[in-house]
Amino acid sequence: MNPSFDLPSLFYLPLTVQLGVLILLSLLYRKRGVRKHRLPPANIFRCTRCRHLYMDSRRVPLSKCPKCSSLNEVIRR
Ligand SMILES: [Zn+2]
Repeated sequence: MNPSFDLPSLFYLPLTVQLGVLILLSLLYRKRGVRKHRLPPANIFRCTRCRHLYMDSRRVPLSKCPKCSSLNEVIRR
């Protein structure tokens, strides 16, 4: 009997090949995903009137609150 065609290797060989393909695809996907999901730099603001926390991607020192439209200073860049 040929040792490369016994039952365990018939089971494990396709499994190893499929696992290898999956790992390769996940590595490729992760490489692309990092570049795709990178967020633009955003400033974080907290409204002094209604305590609403919001972000503004523009580089401005003051931003209007989307809820009560009062002007607020940036708390984190
Ligand atoms: Zn507000």
